[in-house]
Amino acid sequence: LNRRLAGFGTTIFAEMSALALRTGAINLGQGFPDTDGPEEVREAAVRALRDGRGNQYPPGPGVPGLRTAIAAHQRHRYGLALDPDTEVLVTAGATEAIAASMLALLEPGDEVVALEPYYDSYAACVAMAGAIRVPVTLRPREGRFHLDLDELRDAVTDRTRLLLVNTPHNPTGTVLTREELAAIAELAVERDLLVVTDEVYEHLVFDDAEHVPLATFPGMRERTVTISSAGKTFSFTGWKVGWVTGTPELVTAVRSAKQYLTYVSAGPFQYAVAEALALPDAYFDDFRADHRRKRDLLADGLRSAGFEVYRPRGTYFITADIAPFGEKDAYAFCRALPGRCGVVAVPVSVFYDDPEAGRSQVRFAFCKKDEVLTEAAVRLQRLL
Ligand code: PMP
Ligand code: GLN
Repeated sequence: LNRRLAGFGTTIFAEMSALALRTGAINLGQGFPDTDGPEEVREAAVRALRDGRGNQYPPGPGVPGLRTAIAAHQRHRYGLALDPDTEVLVTAGATEAIAASMLALLEPGDEVVALEPYYDSYAACVAMAGAIRVPVTLRPREGRFHLDLDELRDAVTDRTRLLLVNTPHNPTGTVLTREELAAIAELAVERDLLVVTDEVYEHLVFDDAEHVPLATFPGMRERTVTISSAGKTFSFTGWKVGWVTGTPELVTAVRSAKQYLTYVSAGPFQYAVAEALALPDAYFDDFRADHRRKRDLLADGLRSAGFEVYRPRGTYFITADIAPFGEKDAYAFCRALPGRCGVVAVPVSVFYDDPEAGRSQVRFAFCKKDEVLTEAAVRLQRLL
Protein backbone atom coordinates (compact mmCIF):
# COMPACT_ATOMS: atom_id res chain seq x y z
CA LEU A 1 0.00 0.00 0.00
CA ASN A 2 1.45 3.37 -0.93
CA ARG A 3 2.00 6.20 1.51
CA ARG A 4 -1.14 8.03 0.48
CA LEU A 5 -3.31 5.07 1.50
CA ALA A 6 -1.30 3.92 4.49
CA GLY A 7 -3.63 3.86 7.46
CA PHE A 8 -6.71 3.21 5.34
CA GLY A 9 -7.11 -0.49 5.99
CA THR A 10 -10.40 -2.38 5.67
CA THR A 11 -13.38 -0.04 5.97
CA ILE A 12 -15.17 -0.18 9.28
CA PHE A 13 -18.38 -1.10 7.42
CA ALA A 14 -16.84 -4.25 5.95
CA GLU A 15 -15.27 -5.11 9.31
CA MET A 16 -18.53 -4.76 11.21
CA SER A 17 -20.65 -6.53 8.57
CA ALA A 18 -18.19 -9.45 8.71
CA LEU A 19 -18.59 -9.46 12.50
CA ALA A 20 -22.38 -9.60 12.09
CA LEU A 21 -22.09 -12.49 9.65
CA ARG A 22 -19.70 -14.38 11.92
CA THR A 23 -21.81 -13.96 15.04
CA GLY A 24 -25.31 -13.99 13.57
CA ALA A 25 -26.00 -10.69 15.34
CA ILE A 26 -28.55 -8.15 14.07
CA ASN A 27 -26.56 -5.86 11.78
CA LEU A 28 -27.33 -2.23 12.55
CA GLY A 29 -23.77 -1.34 11.49
CA GLN A 30 -23.36 -0.86 7.76
CA GLY A 31 -26.08 1.30 6.27
CA PHE A 32 -28.10 -0.83 3.88
CA PRO A 33 -31.81 -1.58 3.95
CA ASP A 34 -33.05 -5.11 4.69
CA THR A 35 -35.92 -4.61 2.25
CA ASP A 36 -35.32 -3.97 -1.44
CA GLY A 37 -36.81 -0.95 -3.19
CA PRO A 38 -40.07 -0.85 -5.18
CA GLU A 39 -41.11 -3.93 -7.14
CA GLU A 40 -41.83 -1.88 -10.27
CA VAL A 41 -38.29 -0.51 -10.23
CA ARG A 42 -36.88 -4.02 -9.95
CA GLU A 43 -39.11 -5.05 -12.82
CA ALA A 44 -37.79 -2.12 -14.85
CA ALA A 45 -34.24 -3.47 -14.39
CA VAL A 46 -35.34 -6.95 -15.47
CA ARG A 47 -37.08 -5.49 -18.54
CA ALA A 48 -33.98 -3.51 -19.49
CA LEU A 49 -31.82 -6.63 -19.20
CA ARG A 50 -34.26 -8.75 -21.19
CA ASP A 51 -34.78 -6.12 -23.87
CA GLY A 52 -31.06 -5.63 -24.30
CA ARG A 53 -30.93 -2.05 -23.04
CA GLY A 54 -27.62 -1.32 -21.40
CA ASN A 55 -26.08 -4.77 -21.78
CA GLN A 56 -23.21 -3.23 -23.74
CA TYR A 57 -21.25 -0.10 -22.75
CA PRO A 58 -23.75 2.69 -22.20
CA PRO A 59 -22.75 6.29 -23.05
CA GLY A 60 -19.99 7.68 -20.79
CA PRO A 61 -22.08 10.39 -19.11
CA GLY A 62 -24.94 7.95 -18.48
CA VAL A 63 -27.95 6.88 -20.55
CA PRO A 64 -29.90 9.92 -21.81
CA GLY A 65 -33.15 8.84 -20.15
CA LEU A 66 -31.51 8.75 -16.73
CA ARG A 67 -29.77 12.09 -17.20
CA THR A 68 -33.11 13.61 -18.20
CA ALA A 69 -34.79 12.05 -15.16
CA ILE A 70 -32.10 13.43 -12.82
CA ALA A 71 -32.50 16.92 -14.30
CA ALA A 72 -36.30 16.64 -13.98
CA HIS A 73 -35.93 15.57 -10.34
CA GLN A 74 -33.71 18.55 -9.51
CA ARG A 75 -36.16 20.90 -11.19
CA HIS A 76 -39.25 19.40 -9.60
CA ARG A 77 -37.86 19.15 -6.05
CA TYR A 78 -35.61 22.20 -5.88
CA GLY A 79 -36.31 24.44 -8.87
CA LEU A 80 -32.79 23.80 -10.21
CA ALA A 81 -32.62 23.92 -14.00
CA LEU A 82 -29.96 21.60 -15.47
CA ASP A 83 -29.08 20.68 -19.01
CA PRO A 84 -29.16 16.85 -19.01
CA ASP A 85 -26.56 16.73 -21.78
CA THR A 86 -23.88 18.86 -20.17
CA GLU A 87 -24.72 19.25 -16.48
CA VAL A 88 -25.45 15.68 -15.35
CA LEU A 89 -23.07 12.74 -15.02
CA VAL A 90 -24.01 9.23 -13.93
CA THR A 91 -21.44 7.53 -11.67
CA ALA A 92 -20.87 4.14 -10.06
CA GLY A 93 -22.64 5.17 -6.86
CA ALA A 94 -21.96 8.31 -4.89
CA THR A 95 -18.67 6.69 -3.92
CA GLU A 96 -17.27 7.08 -7.40
CA ALA A 97 -18.74 10.57 -7.63
CA ILE A 98 -16.76 11.54 -4.53
CA ALA A 99 -13.56 9.93 -5.78
CA ALA A 100 -13.81 11.39 -9.27
CA SER A 101 -14.59 14.84 -7.87
CA MET A 102 -11.55 14.81 -5.61
CA LEU A 103 -9.24 13.45 -8.32
CA ALA A 104 -10.53 15.95 -10.86
CA LEU A 105 -10.66 19.12 -8.79
CA LEU A 106 -7.70 18.96 -6.40
CA GLU A 107 -4.01 19.64 -6.80
CA PRO A 108 -1.54 17.90 -4.49
CA GLY A 109 -1.20 19.97 -1.33
CA ASP A 110 -4.61 21.65 -1.63
CA GLU A 111 -6.60 21.79 1.58
CA VAL A 112 -10.10 20.39 1.77
CA VAL A 113 -12.31 21.50 4.64
CA ALA A 114 -14.74 18.75 5.62
CA LEU A 115 -17.21 18.23 8.43
CA GLU A 116 -16.13 15.71 11.06
CA PRO A 117 -17.09 12.98 11.88
CA TYR A 118 -16.83 12.28 8.14
CA TYR A 119 -17.97 9.46 5.91
CA ASP A 120 -14.86 7.29 5.57
CA SER A 121 -14.38 7.58 1.80
CA TYR A 122 -13.87 11.36 2.07
CA ALA A 123 -10.60 10.99 3.91
CA ALA A 124 -9.36 8.25 1.56
CA CYS A 125 -10.31 10.14 -1.61
CA VAL A 126 -8.75 13.39 -0.42
CA ALA A 127 -5.61 11.39 0.36
CA MET A 128 -5.61 9.66 -3.03
CA ALA A 129 -5.74 13.09 -4.66
CA GLY A 130 -2.66 14.05 -2.63
CA ALA A 131 -4.63 16.76 -0.85
CA ILE A 132 -4.91 17.54 2.85
CA ARG A 133 -8.10 17.30 4.85
CA VAL A 134 -8.91 19.93 7.43
CA PRO A 135 -11.74 18.80 9.69
CA VAL A 136 -14.35 21.02 11.27
CA THR A 137 -15.92 19.10 14.13
CA LEU A 138 -19.68 18.87 14.65
CA ARG A 139 -20.12 18.92 18.40
CA PRO A 140 -22.97 17.47 20.46
CA ARG A 141 -24.92 19.89 22.60
CA GLU A 142 -28.43 19.54 24.01
CA GLY A 143 -29.10 16.22 22.30
CA ARG A 144 -27.93 17.22 18.81
CA PHE A 145 -24.79 17.89 16.82
CA HIS A 146 -24.02 21.47 15.85
CA LEU A 147 -21.78 23.19 13.34
CA ASP A 148 -19.76 26.12 14.67
CA LEU A 149 -19.66 28.61 11.80
CA ASP A 150 -16.72 30.49 13.32
CA GLU A 151 -14.71 27.28 13.41
CA LEU A 152 -15.63 26.70 9.80
CA ARG A 153 -14.47 30.18 8.80
CA ASP A 154 -11.24 29.75 10.76
CA ALA A 155 -10.52 26.46 9.00
CA VAL A 156 -10.31 28.17 5.60
CA THR A 157 -6.79 29.27 4.67
CA ASP A 158 -5.11 30.52 1.51
CA ARG A 159 -4.44 26.89 0.64
CA THR A 160 -8.10 25.84 0.87
CA ARG A 161 -9.43 24.77 -2.50
CA LEU A 162 -12.64 23.02 -1.64
CA LEU A 163 -15.36 22.62 0.97
CA LEU A 164 -16.68 19.08 1.23
CA VAL A 165 -20.16 19.25 2.71
CA ASN A 166 -22.56 16.46 3.61
CA THR A 167 -26.18 17.17 4.47
CA PRO A 168 -28.14 15.27 5.74
CA HIS A 169 -25.00 14.18 7.52
CA ASN A 170 -23.71 10.65 7.97
CA PRO A 171 -23.15 9.59 10.79
CA THR A 172 -24.65 12.30 13.03
CA GLY A 173 -28.02 12.79 11.30
CA THR A 174 -27.48 16.54 11.26
CA VAL A 175 -29.45 18.43 8.62
CA LEU A 176 -27.82 21.79 8.02
CA THR A 177 -30.34 24.62 8.31
CA ARG A 178 -31.02 27.18 5.64
CA GLU A 179 -29.09 29.73 7.73
CA GLU A 180 -26.06 27.46 8.10
CA LEU A 181 -26.08 26.67 4.40
CA ALA A 182 -26.36 30.36 3.55
CA ALA A 183 -23.30 31.03 5.74
CA ILE A 184 -21.37 28.22 4.03
CA ALA A 185 -22.36 29.64 0.63
CA GLU A 186 -21.26 33.14 1.61
CA LEU A 187 -17.93 31.81 2.80
CA ALA A 188 -17.42 29.86 -0.43
CA VAL A 189 -18.18 32.91 -2.54
CA GLU A 190 -16.06 35.24 -0.40
CA ARG A 191 -13.04 32.91 -0.48
CA ASP A 192 -13.70 31.69 -4.03
CA LEU A 193 -13.88 28.02 -3.05
CA LEU A 194 -15.27 25.03 -4.86
CA VAL A 195 -17.91 23.07 -3.00
CA VAL A 196 -18.62 19.38 -3.28
CA THR A 197 -21.85 18.53 -1.52
CA ASP A 198 -22.89 14.96 -0.77
CA GLU A 199 -26.67 14.95 -0.62
CA VAL A 200 -27.32 11.21 -0.84
CA TYR A 201 -29.79 11.39 2.06
CA GLU A 202 -31.74 14.24 0.47
CA HIS A 203 -35.04 12.35 0.81
CA LEU A 204 -34.48 11.33 4.43
CA VAL A 205 -35.31 14.40 6.50
CA PHE A 206 -37.69 14.39 9.44
CA ASP A 207 -39.73 16.65 11.71
CA ASP A 208 -39.32 20.30 10.75
CA ALA A 209 -36.05 19.70 8.87
CA GLU A 210 -35.86 20.58 5.21
CA HIS A 211 -33.24 19.56 2.67
CA VAL A 212 -32.00 22.59 0.76
CA PRO A 213 -29.34 21.90 -1.89
CA LEU A 214 -26.31 24.15 -1.56
CA ALA A 215 -26.44 24.75 -5.30
CA THR A 216 -29.63 26.80 -4.85
CA PHE A 217 -27.88 29.59 -2.89
CA PRO A 218 -26.66 32.77 -4.58
CA GLY A 219 -23.29 32.38 -6.25
CA MET A 220 -23.26 28.62 -5.68
CA ARG A 221 -24.47 27.18 -8.95
CA GLU A 222 -21.17 27.95 -10.66
CA ARG A 223 -18.96 26.50 -7.91
CA THR A 224 -20.88 23.49 -6.64
CA VAL A 225 -20.69 19.81 -7.50
CA THR A 226 -23.79 18.07 -6.13
CA ILE A 227 -23.75 14.32 -5.50
CA SER A 228 -26.60 11.91 -4.91
CA SER A 229 -27.38 8.22 -5.29
CA ALA A 230 -30.19 5.81 -6.08
CA GLY A 231 -28.80 3.47 -3.44
CA LYS A 232 -30.29 5.49 -0.61
CA THR A 233 -33.43 6.99 -2.11
CA PHE A 234 -34.68 3.80 -3.75
CA SER A 235 -33.13 1.18 -1.45
CA PHE A 236 -30.92 -0.44 -4.06
CA THR A 237 -27.46 0.02 -2.58
CA GLY A 238 -26.15 -2.92 -4.62
CA TRP A 239 -26.93 -1.29 -7.95
CA LYS A 240 -24.32 1.42 -7.50
CA VAL A 241 -26.02 4.13 -9.51
CA GLY A 242 -25.12 7.63 -8.40
CA TRP A 243 -24.80 10.99 -10.07
CA VAL A 244 -23.14 14.36 -10.16
CA THR A 245 -24.74 17.62 -11.20
CA GLY A 246 -23.13 21.00 -11.75
CA THR A 247 -21.99 23.39 -14.44
CA PRO A 248 -20.72 21.95 -17.74
CA GLU A 249 -17.18 22.88 -16.74
CA LEU A 250 -17.33 21.09 -13.38
CA VAL A 251 -19.19 18.08 -14.71
CA THR A 252 -16.72 17.75 -17.59
CA ALA A 253 -13.86 17.83 -15.11
CA VAL A 254 -15.40 15.11 -12.94
CA ARG A 255 -16.18 13.10 -16.06
CA SER A 256 -12.53 13.25 -17.11
CA ALA A 257 -11.61 11.39 -13.93
CA LYS A 258 -14.61 9.04 -14.12
CA GLN A 259 -13.61 7.97 -17.64
CA TYR A 260 -10.45 6.39 -16.28
CA LEU A 261 -11.93 4.99 -13.09
CA THR A 262 -14.87 2.98 -14.41
CA TYR A 263 -15.36 4.44 -17.91
CA VAL A 264 -19.14 3.92 -17.62
CA SER A 265 -21.60 2.70 -15.01
CA ALA A 266 -23.70 -0.49 -15.22
CA GLY A 267 -26.25 -0.12 -18.02
CA PRO A 268 -29.56 -1.86 -17.24
CA PHE A 269 -29.81 -0.36 -13.74
CA GLN A 270 -29.61 3.12 -15.23
CA TYR A 271 -32.85 2.52 -17.14
CA ALA A 272 -34.52 1.30 -13.97
CA VAL A 273 -33.34 4.28 -11.90
CA ALA A 274 -34.71 6.62 -14.58
CA GLU A 275 -38.12 5.07 -13.91
CA ALA A 276 -37.60 5.27 -10.15
CA LEU A 277 -36.92 9.00 -10.30
CA ALA A 278 -40.24 9.45 -12.06
CA LEU A 279 -42.19 7.75 -9.24
CA PRO A 280 -45.00 9.94 -7.87
CA ASP A 281 -44.34 12.21 -4.89
CA ALA A 282 -46.25 9.71 -2.72
CA TYR A 283 -43.31 7.28 -2.98
CA PHE A 284 -40.92 9.85 -1.52
CA ASP A 285 -43.45 10.90 1.15
CA ASP A 286 -43.99 7.29 2.25
CA PHE A 287 -40.26 6.60 2.24
CA ARG A 288 -39.71 9.53 4.56
CA ALA A 289 -42.65 8.68 6.84
CA ASP A 290 -41.52 5.04 7.13
CA HIS A 291 -38.05 6.11 8.17
CA ARG A 292 -39.33 8.66 10.64
CA ARG A 293 -41.25 5.86 12.35
CA LYS A 294 -38.18 3.62 12.30
CA ARG A 295 -36.06 6.39 13.75
CA ASP A 296 -38.48 6.82 16.63
CA LEU A 297 -38.61 3.08 17.20
CA LEU A 298 -34.83 2.75 17.45
CA ALA A 299 -34.27 6.04 19.28
CA ASP A 300 -36.77 4.99 21.98
CA GLY A 301 -35.16 1.55 22.19
CA LEU A 302 -31.68 3.00 22.56
CA ARG A 303 -32.81 5.50 25.15
CA SER A 304 -34.55 2.91 27.30
CA ALA A 305 -31.49 0.67 26.98
CA GLY A 306 -29.48 3.46 28.61
CA PHE A 307 -27.75 5.21 25.69
CA GLU A 308 -27.56 8.95 25.35
CA VAL A 309 -29.20 9.45 21.97
CA TYR A 310 -28.50 12.30 19.58
CA ARG A 311 -31.78 12.59 17.77
CA PRO A 312 -31.14 12.68 14.01
CA ARG A 313 -33.17 15.03 11.81
CA GLY A 314 -32.02 13.18 8.69
CA THR A 315 -30.30 10.05 7.24
CA TYR A 316 -31.04 6.54 8.47
CA PHE A 317 -28.49 6.59 11.25
CA ILE A 318 -28.55 7.35 14.95
CA THR A 319 -25.37 8.29 16.74
CA ALA A 320 -25.53 7.52 20.45
CA ASP A 321 -23.13 7.85 23.36
CA ILE A 322 -22.03 4.98 25.59
CA ALA A 323 -20.83 7.24 28.41
CA PRO A 324 -23.95 6.47 30.51
CA PHE A 325 -22.73 2.83 30.72
CA GLY A 326 -19.48 4.10 32.21
CA GLU A 327 -17.73 3.03 29.00
CA LYS A 328 -15.51 5.17 26.85
CA ASP A 329 -14.08 3.12 24.01
CA ALA A 330 -16.61 2.87 21.16
CA TYR A 331 -14.41 0.52 19.13
CA ALA A 332 -14.05 -1.97 21.98
CA PHE A 333 -17.75 -1.58 22.75
CA CYS A 334 -18.75 -2.39 19.15
CA ARG A 335 -16.44 -5.38 18.97
CA ALA A 336 -17.97 -6.78 22.15
CA LEU A 337 -21.59 -5.85 21.39
CA PRO A 338 -22.54 -9.02 19.42
CA GLY A 339 -21.33 -11.18 22.31
CA ARG A 340 -23.06 -9.05 24.91
CA CYS A 341 -26.43 -8.76 23.23
CA GLY A 342 -26.42 -9.90 19.60
CA VAL A 343 -26.36 -6.49 17.89
CA VAL A 344 -23.77 -4.88 15.63
CA ALA A 345 -23.09 -1.11 15.51
CA VAL A 346 -20.29 1.02 14.12
CA PRO A 347 -17.85 3.03 16.25
CA VAL A 348 -18.04 6.69 15.22
CA SER A 349 -14.59 7.32 16.69
CA VAL A 350 -13.02 6.08 13.44
CA PHE A 351 -14.63 8.99 11.55
CA TYR A 352 -12.63 11.65 13.43
CA ASP A 353 -9.06 12.75 12.87
CA ASP A 354 -8.80 13.00 16.62
CA PRO A 355 -10.43 9.75 17.80
CA GLU A 356 -10.72 11.26 21.29
CA ALA A 357 -13.37 13.61 19.92
CA GLY A 358 -15.83 10.81 19.25
CA ARG A 359 -14.36 8.22 21.52
CA SER A 360 -17.63 7.14 23.13
CA GLN A 361 -19.92 7.51 20.10
CA VAL A 362 -21.50 4.59 18.26
CA ARG A 363 -23.77 4.57 15.21
CA PHE A 364 -26.85 2.43 14.61
CA ALA A 365 -28.66 2.13 11.25
CA PHE A 366 -32.46 2.07 11.30
CA CYS A 367 -33.13 1.21 7.62
CA LYS A 368 -34.42 -2.16 8.82
CA LYS A 369 -37.79 -3.88 9.20
CA ASP A 370 -39.79 -2.69 12.22
CA GLU A 371 -39.65 -6.17 13.78
CA VAL A 372 -35.86 -6.22 13.42
CA LEU A 373 -35.59 -2.85 15.16
CA THR A 374 -37.95 -4.00 17.89
CA GLU A 375 -35.92 -7.18 18.44
CA ALA A 376 -32.69 -5.15 18.48
CA ALA A 377 -34.21 -2.85 21.10
CA VAL A 378 -35.15 -5.86 23.26
CA ARG A 379 -31.63 -7.26 22.97
CA LEU A 380 -30.02 -3.94 23.81
CA GLN A 381 -31.91 -3.85 27.12
CA ARG A 382 -29.54 -6.65 28.20
CA LEU A 383 -26.78 -4.07 28.48
CA LEU A 384 -28.43 -2.54 31.54
N1 PMP B 1 -21.97 9.36 0.88
C1 PMP B 1 -22.52 9.07 2.05
C2 PMP B 1 -22.66 10.13 3.08
C3 PMP B 1 -22.96 7.76 2.31
O1 PMP B 1 -23.48 7.46 3.48
C4 PMP B 1 -22.82 6.80 1.31
C5 PMP B 1 -23.30 5.39 1.46
N2 PMP B 1 -23.18 4.79 2.58
C6 PMP B 1 -22.22 7.15 0.12
C7 PMP B 1 -21.81 8.44 -0.08
C8 PMP B 1 -21.97 6.15 -0.97
O2 PMP B 1 -23.07 5.95 -1.75
P1 PMP B 1 -23.09 4.82 -2.87
O3 PMP B 1 -23.50 3.56 -2.19
O4 PMP B 1 -24.12 5.32 -3.85
O5 PMP B 1 -21.74 4.72 -3.47
N1 GLN C 1 -22.76 4.34 3.39
C1 GLN C 1 -22.97 3.18 4.18
C2 GLN C 1 -22.79 3.52 5.64
O1 GLN C 1 -22.45 4.61 6.00
C3 GLN C 1 -22.03 2.06 3.87
C4 GLN C 1 -21.31 2.11 2.60
C5 GLN C 1 -20.06 1.32 2.67
O2 GLN C 1 -20.02 0.24 3.22
N2 GLN C 1 -19.03 1.85 2.14
O3 GLN C 1 -22.99 2.65 6.45
